Amino acid sequence: MNVQQQIRAASADSTEHFGVVIAGAGISGVGAAYHLTKQCPGTSFVVLETQASFGGTWRTHRYPGIRSDSDLHTFGYRFKPWTSAPIATAAEILSYMGEVIEENGLGRHIRYRHRISSARWSSEENLWTIEAVRTDSGEAVRFTANFFWMCQGYYRHAEGYTPEWKAMETFKGRIVHPQQWPEDLDYKDKRVVVIGSGATAATLIPAIANDSAHVTMLQRSPTYFRTGRNAIDIAETLRTLQVDETWIHEITRRKILYDQAEFTRKTFEEPEAAKKDLLSAVEAYLGPDYDIATHFTPKYRPWRQRIAFIPDGDLFQGIKSGKASVVTDEIDRFTETGILLKSGKTLEADIIVTATGFNLSANGDMEFGVDGKPLDFADTVTYRGMMFTGVPNLVWVFGYFRASWTLRVDLVADFVCRLLDHMKQTGARKVTPAMRAEDHNMALLPWIDPENFNPGYMMRGMHLLPKRGDKPEWQHNQDYWAEKDEFPAIDLNDRAFVYE
Ligand SMILES: Cc1cc2nc3c(=O)[nH]c(=O)nc-3n(C[C@H](O)[C@H](O)[C@H](O)COP(=O)(O)OP(=O)(O)OC[C@H]3O[C@@H](n4cnc5c(N)ncnc54)[C@H](O)[C@@H]3O)c2cc1C
Repeated sequence: MNVQQQIRAASADSTEHFGVVIAGAGISGVGAAYHLTKQCPGTSFVVLETQASFGGTWRTHRYPGIRSDSDLHTFGYRFKPWTSAPIATAAEILSYMGEVIEENGLGRHIRYRHRISSARWSSEENLWTIEAVRTDSGEAVRFTANFFWMCQGYYRHAEGYTPEWKAMETFKGRIVHPQQWPEDLDYKDKRVVVIGSGATAATLIPAIANDSAHVTMLQRSPTYFRTGRNAIDIAETLRTLQVDETWIHEITRRKILYDQAEFTRKTFEEPEAAKKDLLSAVEAYLGPDYDIATHFTPKYRPWRQRIAFIPDGDLFQGIKSGKASVVTDEIDRFTETGILLKSGKTLEADIIVTATGFNLSANGDMEFGVDGKPLDFADTVTYRGMMFTGVPNLVWVFGYFRASWTLRVDLVADFVCRLLDHMKQTGARKVTPAMRAEDHNMALLPWIDPENFNPGYMMRGMHLLPKRGDKPEWQHNQDYWAEKDEFPAIDLNDRAFVYE
């Protein structure tokens, strides 16, 4: 055996094979693992996760006040009732996920501190070869899999997005991105400016307002918020009636989903009425003299960007009390002591928090290849936002923007398990989405219509994402209400699936 052969033999020895490799142990990867054990018992699988534990988003983000902005009846899985207040802290979500892992014996399938660096498909072997690096020892490890289930989310966990502003380096205080919140950050009695007005800013500001000297939310343009009690009437009523939690979970989910679909319909069909509903709820907290037109009235139709839920109006209460304030202006430059605005005003600060969003990462920063050629997902067309033309035996979980992400985790899992079972029954080893004859003249468009939904991280990264077509099969339509019926009805013998 020559040296090359010896190396190949040695690495072949250390290659582990699984029926399915799942990338990531966030809410999607843990959900995928659960459904595989229940719906495809006997399938060997492993979950590879970069971080030291499960949770994904809810482990990465550690800024004060970190909480969901969806209710946990729908952000929780359909199979495990959520029994607490609907808006949950990251700690509560991690505890819920921990119970799912514990109760279903999923822990033995998860390998932490394994960062997948590449995934290459070979049609000769009908296998994915997945290379990973152990983040503790630096050791390279290799897996092969019949099927690759990408549950690595949509943004880079290692770093958040911070725009470059003029003279940032001159600022003498600390600049912090919420995605890398320093454990030692002392904001007590400090003047804090939070740049941005998305869900992160809206969560963080009330959480630090009481301890800091003052918090200013600096936004270029306003955002819509929803507000209300951190409770769901129907769940409370059913609990008073001592209805079983499994039923409460299901009924509450249906009620929430129905109400959300109604609200979404209203934002498209009666946008002015939807806008009025949202703004009058803000006014109820801030009073008629507050300048809602400048600070809380976006120029866009409601739901073109995610609408964060503010439980019990805590952000508005902070503003009302004078501990927090909103400035709507643009940054000219940073100064030694704060920020100079384009209006000529200055904001003095000890700490500047850049709540300016994420860096989109469609492929978990893995290198992909198919049959020896590098794969760029931007060159593919998506099959219902989960599979890609020309890419065999692979599914990506990309949730909903206007409804809870996890609703799609459960739906996609049902589809994958049905597909794996179908392949087993028919003896197929490979399934590749492909455009059918009738699709060949179809217009190819960006992943999402910016008129429909256009947050900054999507707009910055659209060129990295697969294309969409103008038929339901070839797009991620963001409509749970439709997909909950469409997904179970997907015909696995449709010509969009090429089996070999
Ligand atoms: C602060 C914040 C609040 C949010 N609130 C809500 C909400 O209330 N409701 C809602 O629906 N959505 C919310 N979202 C969106 C949220 O990201 C998703 O809902 C959901 O948590 C995504 O789950 P996921 O498992 O798909 O991905 P993630 O949570 O991103 O987890 C992906 C996991 O994959 C791992 N990973 C990535 N690349 C690799 C690799 N190469 N190798 C191995 N492992 C890898 C990561 O380390 C991570 O643990 C929020 C997002 C943020 C940032």
